[in-house]
Amino acid sequence: MFTDIYSPLQQLKHQSRHQVQVKRDDLIDPYISGNKWRKLKYILQEVQEKSKSHIVTFGGAYSNHLVATAAACCRAGLKSTAFVRGEQVENEMLALCKLFGMNLIFTDRTSYKDKNSLFSIHYGDDQDAFFVDEGGACTEAVEGCAEIIGELPNNIDHIFCAAGTGTTAAGLLKGIHQQGLKTQLHVIPVLKGGDFIADEIVSYTGKSDQLTLHTDYHFGGYAKTQPELIHFMKSFIAEEGMLIDPVYTSKMFFAIDDLLKKDYFKANEKILAIHTGGLLGIMGMKDKF
Ligand SMILES: *Cc1c(COP(=O)(O)O)cnc(C)c1O
Repeated sequence: MFTDIYSPLQQLKHQSRHQVQVKRDDLIDPYISGNKWRKLKYILQEVQEKSKSHIVTFGGAYSNHLVATAAACCRAGLKSTAFVRGEQVENEMLALCKLFGMNLIFTDRTSYKDKNSLFSIHYGDDQDAFFVDEGGACTEAVEGCAEIIGELPNNIDHIFCAAGTGTTAAGLLKGIHQQGLKTQLHVIPVLKGGDFIADEIVSYTGKSDQLTLHTDYHFGGYAKTQPELIHFMKSFIAEEGMLIDPVYTSKMFFAIDDLLKKDYFKANEKILAIHTGGLLGIMGMKDKF
């Protein structure tokens, strides 16, 4: 299940002095999409090694992580349960979770904050249950994301990725360090006040060399958009024929575009963006397009 993936490199048509390549992790799988596939790879391996049969995880009502976990568990023959933040709702993402057999437990925002205690209250005595944090954040997830670097040419000057928890970015930076590359990693936090992500990344990698955080491209915060971002997203998709989502990848590609316009890069430097997938999230904002 976690072998033989299809994630080609594609060059953007975008005319400039710089070629921008995109690592199409969004094509790995429609439901176990992009970085969520990378993160789940070693989590599922650990679950199987520990002979657990039930993943218990956490997310918001539009979480790509929940859909990915539901689909991956279904295929691997594991049970899945999610504590979903907030009051009971129905939407496209949760419908997919249910189709893949995920058990959903809607949880008020206060109780949701203490994930460890939710797990121990409901599943503390269940030997089959395995805790997976919100967004799949853990060292196994970092290992999975580090493998992306080994699939790239080693002469890339700048790699870009969008960040929520920063786990994917930590993996990429770890991969860069492990392979001794000179590549700079540029991280675009999609939430407001994303400076904390540097500490999160360093907690996995031990050092922040070759890391640049661009904290001014959040457009108001997590899942927030502005007309300028939606306009950019629509013209990017129309021009490139490649879908991007408003929550993560649009903010990253906007940042790259903006830095290109500001002549941020040296002549002929090679730029690569990680398409982390998450395209189902578009459905949550379909009235905006
Ligand atoms: C979840 C997600 C991210 C954020 O990944 P982190 O490892 O939490 O930083 C980025 N892009 C997409 C498309 C996602 O679904």
